[in-house]
Amino acid sequence: MFSLKDKVALVTGANTGIGQGLAIGLAAAGADIAAVGRTAPEETKAEVEKLGRRFAFIEADLSSTDGVEAVVTAAEAALGPVDILVNNAGTIKRNDALDFTEEDWDSVMDVNLKTLFFLSQAVARKMVAAGCKGKIINIASMLSFQGGIRVASYTASKSGVAGLTKLLANEWALKNINVNAIAPGYIATNNTAALRADEKRNAEILGRIPAGRWGNPDDLAGAVVFLASSASDYVHGTTLAVDGGWLAR
Ligand code: NAP
Repeated sequence: MFSLKDKVALVTGANTGIGQGLAIGLAAAGADIAAVGRTAPEETKAEVEKLGRRFAFIEADLSSTDGVEAVVTAAEAALGPVDILVNNAGTIKRNDALDFTEEDWDSVMDVNLKTLFFLSQAVARKMVAAGCKGKIINIASMLSFQGGIRVASYTASKSGVAGLTKLLANEWALKNINVNAIAPGYIATNNTAALRADEKRNAEILGRIPAGRWGNPDDLAGAVVFLASSASDYVHGTTLAVDGGWLAR
């Protein structure tokens, strides 16, 4: 029920951090990986191939929606039709709301929300035309549930991701596409390097995590395999927190 044998998974931002952990987890469950991003994912490629799965890199800057259809076509040409889409690529800008710039607003919203929607649309159009089952998994955040501080565009984008996940689930459930999201808690990646380097913030964060530790990218593998597999066929529109208990506090 959890096997992804011979499924094709398109994962954005798979060169590092959470995306790398998700790609390796999907490959371990049997999926071939089309990694989409702007940095060559050499390490991820080696890990996926070590697991005996096929790997293709499709170079794209996801700050613009211009190339999204070409990305899907390239993934299909390399590995076959896409069964699973993981919208992981994301960015964050920090500043007080009083000083927040339009540039920092747009750059985050474009990658985290706008491209996520149009890439989902491009993949879903193919799935619907082929009449096959599909799985779309969006990477949300604790800030899909909470307000956060000094990250206005990130909170707006990730709250938007949770909303869009529900909207797309409503529209596509009858078309055999499951749309769900994973909300990682505090995971040790580049994205959170500044927080971990700040002794005070690091101690505050750790003190609030019931599991008593930062998460690692591989802590998310079980959730993504579940949402990508037929084990979750009746799960639509949910945002699954994988957060060491953060939201339960
Ligand atoms: P990360 O290590 O900074 O990785 C971000 C990924 O997104 C990288 O692969 C990056 O590519 C890619 N990306 C960013 N902008 C891009 C663009 N314009 N075009 C193509 N690729 C782009 O951060 P992470 O923590 O793994 O984050 C992955 C996802 O998890 C994000 O959506 C993030 O918001 C979410 N998340 C993270 C945490 C956490 O605690 N770490 C918590 C909740 C949610 P480059 O390497 O080329 O920049």
